[in-house]
Amino acid sequence: MPVKPSFSSEIVNLLYSAETNPVQSCIQCGTCSSTCPVADFMDHSPRNIIALIRADLRKPVLSSNAFWYCASCYQCTVRCPAGIDIAGMMYGLKRYSMWRNHIRRGTIGADFSRRFARMILKNGKSFEPALATPYLFHYGLRTFLYDARNALALFMKGRLPLFPKRLKRSARFRGVLNRIIPMGRVA
Ligand code: SF4
Ligand code: SF4
Repeated sequence: MPVKPSFSSEIVNLLYSAETNPVQSCIQCGTCSSTCPVADFMDHSPRNIIALIRADLRKPVLSSNAFWYCASCYQCTVRCPAGIDIAGMMYGLKRYSMWRNHIRRGTIGADFSRRFARMILKNGKSFEPALATPYLFHYGLRTFLYDARNALALFMKGRLPLFPKRLKRSARFRGVLNRIIPMGRVA
């Protein structure tokens, strides 16, 4: 009878560069958490997430907002003394939670990721005004006003387009994406 893989080994298998189990080499030094620019917004710091995965605690990991707040800056990955690709692990957790349909309630990350992928597949380029519109009031009026002020400043500097642009030969680009990533079939 096949043995069901542990949660910890499933996550480790999602790390493309992992040859062994890198999570086991974590020394819990906290460098990743102290270097992370968005750790204050996370309910579990990157160090905690690693500890929870090692302990095979699936539910608290998948219920966490940590990987949805990860900005993929890779500061943790380059500074980790144990050579663990924490940023890659955060990506792995996003993919895993979407595959397993275990997405924290109220989190917009998964929905946003799908919309972003569809937009790239269709146009080959991101168009921020359309991407952000469904979430304008998700975090309340105060955040909306803050975002509106930033959007206006970006627009005034010519950094926010009014109309979407399409990549030339977008069908060819789509064909390439469909060949290299399964996500290419979300559209
Ligand atoms: S920096 Fe690396 S070794 Fe230190 S707690 Fe984070 S993952 Fe573990
Ligand atoms: S890659 Fe993500 S988890 Fe790592 S420091 Fe940057 S924001 Fe934090």
